[in-house]
Amino acid sequence: MSMLYPKYRFDSITQITAQDLRKMGVLGIAVDLDNTTAIDHTDIPLEGAVEWVLQMKQEGFKVLLLTNAKKDRARSFSKILGNIDYIGFSCKPLRTAYIRAKRAMGLKSNQVAMIGDQLFTDILGANLAGMVSIYVTPFEMEKRGGKSFEVRRDLEQKIFERMDAGVTKK
Ligand SMILES: [Mg+2]
Repeated sequence: MSMLYPKYRFDSITQITAQDLRKMGVLGIAVDLDNTTAIDHTDIPLEGAVEWVLQMKQEGFKVLLLTNAKKDRARSFSKILGNIDYIGFSCKPLRTAYIRAKRAMGLKSNQVAMIGDQLFTDILGANLAGMVSIYVTPFEMEKRGGKSFEVRRDLEQKIFERMDAGVTKK
């Protein structure tokens, strides 16, 4: 179960500061697309996301788009995010996605943060790969995907309840 727990949690990507990331020992950032940097299933960036990416680059971080979306969509959204590197159709949570990301950035796993809104893809894969896992609250519930997404979000809720119960016991 603990592999599904994010190391850090934020309300949105724009809440994460360069200082936060430095404290985590992070040099590179892999960001998810849907509900993390864009409105779900669109090319519309979330408010402040483009500026946030630019700021992090200026702060010296490497930023890469790591998404399970198709390559064409990954490519076009990477341009919107300021022409950053991207890996589309990445097959998160499989390890290969994360290995490709860290290699593209020339960094070690523990120097890379994966920021995403799904425990079963972004966070699970990051933890398995030894990366710093950062969960952000999804911008909105998915309109696509129907029942399977609903079930997954319900499960995420239960995992967080369990995780929080564990935290308060300490
Ligand atoms: Mg997402």
